[in-house]
Amino acid sequence: MIGGDFVNKGAEAMILSTQAILNKYFVNPEIIVATYEKKNIGSKKYPGLKIIGNKWLKGKAILYAKAVIPVIGTKLIKGNLIKRYEQADVIINIGGFSISDKQSIQGNIVYCIEIMLSKLFNKPFIAFPQDMGPFKTMIRRFFIKRFLPNSKLIVVRSKESKKYLEEIGIKNVHITPDLAFILKPSSKKRAEEILAKHKVAKCPFVCIIPNMRVYERNKKYVDTLSSIVNFIVDKLETNVLFLSHEFKKSGNDDRFVINKVIDNIKNKNKVFKITEEYSAPDLKAIISKADILISSRFHGAIAGLSICVPTIVIGWAHKYKELMTLVKQEKYSVDYQDVDIEKIMDKVNDLWKNKTNIKKDLESIILKIKKDAEQPALLLKGTLSEGIGKFKDTYVGYSKDKNIRAAGQSGGLVSALLIYALEKKMIDGAIVTRWSKKDPLLPETFIARSKEEILQAAKSKYCPVKMSEIFRKLKHIKGNFAFVGVPCQLKALKKLEKKGRIQAKISFYFGLFCDRTLTFKFQDYILSVIHMDKKDVKEFTYRSKEWRGWPGDIQVKLKDGTVKNIPKEYRMKVKPLFTIKRCWNCSNKTNKLSDISFGDAWLPEFRRDKLGTSLIVSRTKSGEMLLEKAKHDDVIELDKIDSSKIKQELKKRSFIKYVLAKIKSVYFKLEYIKRNG
Ligand SMILES: Cc1cc2nc3c(=O)[nH]c(=O)nc-3n(C[C@H](O)[C@H](O)[C@H](O)COP(=O)(O)OP(=O)(O)OC[C@H]3O[C@@H](n4cnc5c(N)ncnc54)[C@H](O)[C@@H]3O)c2cc1C
Repeated sequence: MIGGDFVNKGAEAMILSTQAILNKYFVNPEIIVATYEKKNIGSKKYPGLKIIGNKWLKGKAILYAKAVIPVIGTKLIKGNLIKRYEQADVIINIGGFSISDKQSIQGNIVYCIEIMLSKLFNKPFIAFPQDMGPFKTMIRRFFIKRFLPNSKLIVVRSKESKKYLEEIGIKNVHITPDLAFILKPSSKKRAEEILAKHKVAKCPFVCIIPNMRVYERNKKYVDTLSSIVNFIVDKLETNVLFLSHEFKKSGNDDRFVINKVIDNIKNKNKVFKITEEYSAPDLKAIISKADILISSRFHGAIAGLSICVPTIVIGWAHKYKELMTLVKQEKYSVDYQDVDIEKIMDKVNDLWKNKTNIKKDLESIILKIKKDAEQPALLLKGTLSEGIGKFKDTYVGYSKDKNIRAAGQSGGLVSALLIYALEKKMIDGAIVTRWSKKDPLLPETFIARSKEEILQAAKSKYCPVKMSEIFRKLKHIKGNFAFVGVPCQLKALKKLEKKGRIQAKISFYFGLFCDRTLTFKFQDYILSVIHMDKKDVKEFTYRSKEWRGWPGDIQVKLKDGTVKNIPKEYRMKVKPLFTIKRCWNCSNKTNKLSDISFGDAWLPEFRRDKLGTSLIVSRTKSGEMLLEKAKHDDVIELDKIDSSKIKQELKKRSFIKYVLAKIKSVYFKLEYIKRNG
């Protein structure tokens, strides 16, 4: 998460709300917050967040430019920010209002550099609900127009922002309410303790949250606030509590305005202030005790509105007006340039008199707004799962039978589920692929009708498999079967089924993930590496777990009893050289037409796993049912994982890695030609 900090309590509210929805919609997400602070902030105060300070994020474009250089290869690559970009699965920017004519050019450029860093590291850049625009100045328009479209997802929190983006040609922009609507306040008890500690007189009171930024733009702001305070104290005979939403280590912040206003007013007895730093949930709990709220802080206003405290905003940007329109309280929105104090006072008076009804009005709409505020998590989930196809759930798992797991390519889940379905009489047989008994280098697809036959077919054959014979058989055979295949095989079978050319009923389509198949020349190449001939081969395994466990090395068992193990790196390095041409065009790596798709758990957390674990995408009711039953009967281990993990496994290689792979494959090609002529 970038673009936020803990100095501004609005930003903190965004961070904590983002954390809350990520935890709600994703399975055990690891969240790292890269703040603008110089030093790492201890994460104790914010459980579940790893917070890193980063000098690269200081907000100066020049520093960012320097930060990009390490990507090209200097030893500075260890810089925190760079490291985080490299490690993250997704970069989420939560900066509330970073790109606009109202922000500095530097700030706008820094935002663009963040997007490009994400692109360089091949990580999706996500803009979580924020305001953007207008972009009337040429330089800002130039940068934003070119760089922002590289984001994977853009969510804004107002129609106005969407309009500004569309004006510069940026489309596919989503609108949702600000995330901070869902921030949970601290307990009532905590609020009462804080109020007591600061000797704030008991209710009723009006809470005022000023904003240093408004003062910077309009020095008359202090007079306006002073008049409002005098009115509340004298005419409404009510207490006033000032809250600060900003706690800078140096320089002036909201507390400066609070002190200026208090100095300026006549009757100070009824005026209180809390200028000690409290967390965003604590501040929200304090606001909940107020009768009405006057806020110049955007997230201060959201804190009040989300707990139905009648609120007036005195704002400096279009976002304030849009916020009040969202909660149907536009008449209580005041522009900071408004100098008509009488008019403002009327609004305060009106809000005070109607506070009970306004509270009820807010209560009637706030639940829906809070629900809508969770939308970004669902949009993110959709974005991160793109390319997986439709699915019901995603898992990791393995067969609980040690022998099946060992026989299987990954976690032996395909074989385990086939055996389970057969034993439970859900199917009459499984259409699987084994090595031909006549030729140990040629695969054959057949109908396995026993556990032994299913296990004979376990493990992946990374070579072309002729399906025409079995398809012909299925034309005439009656019965109920499960079919296992790579994406193109499943597609072919589904087409035949659709055309009514198959009598057999396929109850389960098991799809294997497939990132390209290799030509038979690969086998020749491997045999040339070990100086053996085809006729000497008894068994050929693309990925045997016998030597070094999962993911498995190439193993050739010879007729004379010799066993040759060839490190897996050989297969990976020459993959581009022996890839079947049409596989380069395939965009269905996860086997989207299946009931359940299976792949290897190539995830960092399984790197040390020697037994093998499968990644599973369950797509249909029947697939989900089979998985649930097998899990219930203790046949398989099955744990939900986040769908973004599957996407991570599907991740395109970065350009640099692609070039390196090509270079390596040319080297092997030369070596192959040298050896084989
Ligand atoms: C060509 C190919 C490419 C693959 N690429 C990837 C990849 O890039 N990423 C990834 O995560 N997973 C990939 N897989 C899938 C992976 O290798 C495992 O097959 C999958 O994880 C299932 O493991 P398992 O232990 O559950 O299966 P097992 O219990 O070992 O069962 C595997 C089943 O697949 C069948 N089978 C094996 N080879 C073929 C074949 N060529 N055609 C049809 N059926 C076959 C067998 O008959 C057996 O029933 C690929 C598989 C193949 C065949």
